[in-house]
Amino acid sequence: MGSRVSAEAARQRISAALDAIDAAHDVLRDTSSDIVGNDFRIDVAERLETQERTNRGLMYRFFGEIADPPDETGMVPAVRDKLWARLRLTPNEITRRFRLAARIRPRRSLIGPPVPPELPKLAAAVQAGTVGEDHIRAVCRAVDVLPSCLSAADVADAERTLVQHATKLDAGVVTKLGQRIADYLNPDGHFDDTDRARRRGLRLGPQGPDGMSHLSGLLDPETRAYFEAIAAAVRPGRHQPHDSDPPARDDRTPAQRCHDALKLALETAIASGKLGAHRGHPATVIVTTTLAELNQAALAAADESLPIPAPARTGGGSRLPMRDLIRMAAKAIHYLAVFDDHTERPLYLGRQKRVATTDQRLICYARDRGCTHPNCLEPGYHCEVHHSPDWASGGRTDADKLYFGCGPHHGRASRGELHTQVMDNGRLGWSDGTGPPEVNHAHHPEELLHTDPDPPDDPPQ
Ligand SMILES: [Zn+2]
Repeated sequence: MGSRVSAEAARQRISAALDAIDAAHDVLRDTSSDIVGNDFRIDVAERLETQERTNRGLMYRFFGEIADPPDETGMVPAVRDKLWARLRLTPNEITRRFRLAARIRPRRSLIGPPVPPELPKLAAAVQAGTVGEDHIRAVCRAVDVLPSCLSAADVADAERTLVQHATKLDAGVVTKLGQRIADYLNPDGHFDDTDRARRRGLRLGPQGPDGMSHLSGLLDPETRAYFEAIAAAVRPGRHQPHDSDPPARDDRTPAQRCHDALKLALETAIASGKLGAHRGHPATVIVTTTLAELNQAALAAADESLPIPAPARTGGGSRLPMRDLIRMAAKAIHYLAVFDDHTERPLYLGRQKRVATTDQRLICYARDRGCTHPNCLEPGYHCEVHHSPDWASGGRTDADKLYFGCGPHHGRASRGELHTQVMDNGRLGWSDGTGPPEVNHAHHPEELLHTDPDPPDDPPQ
């Protein structure tokens, strides 16, 4: 009983403090600052920045408590969905906040008192509101690239020094100081396999309007050795993008040959069939298009005055120009599905090997393109096949009853937290029980543009 009363008192105190901040924001918004002078404006800017940092520190405290509640047994997966829906943060940002909060919060131990945070000085500065988001990133990055051969005391010294400077200087300086500290503590550049494994990574950026994607990252020495060997095979004159007879003069730049080496490696790996299975069919490129677009591509190939057809879609949700698709399909190693424009039923399924479930998945690629849950952006490659009505309630596995759902959404539907039903247009509608079922327009931009996101409650008769 006593803890219940004090919990209620704590909730009231916190809510009252937030109400007071909201009320103060109203005053700030409504008060003109036209005649206060620039010296005063700079004072205000400094205080606003400090308040934003303080706010950030409190935000990390609550993310840390949400992830590891001191008064509950643990976080349930639905909490992430609630944060996503109410704060409108990307799932990546939610994960980032949880991870950072875990590093700057005291750690609970099963026996004995709590263990201090992994980064105690940064934790204190975040809580005090003396460092901003960019400082936090700079300090974490600098600490994370220190080699694992350093002693815990050296790492703690580095963290303390970086945080001290972060409270007085901008984050760019902190980053540079971090590099100098790393060089000083590790003058011989000693890095072991653990360091390299930690730092390896490749980041494939979003596809640009021209169809190109940015790639950046760090390769470990073994990957580099493979890469060099393949790059050597793509020496001048060899493995040109459009093999012709006689071979065309090779005027590729070194960077372009490097790109073609990566393409050759990936194409060879896919064609080898040794990459194993992915959700029941061989790991391969899945491409869907419609008969009208394919016909248009054939006409455009013969007559350059005709418009270029719309690109095909890959199972990863990217756009593939028709010309590339036709060239890839000629090598006959990919799953190509051609759909009737009206019924969205497959007219042609090109495949190297017949796999029973693949035809059903291809229909999902054409109709759903990705997860069918409203506003979910997960592409088809990341989706499971959801049965509607669900297996448990007697669902049958025929193609009209199979729909794409990403892992989390499929899981929540299977547990009965979300309900699905097939709509009149053949698509899958989802509901959490609080409103009518809705379909996902996120993979169908043509619908996004022509759908009223907030229809009136009483549509005119
Ligand atoms: Zn989803």
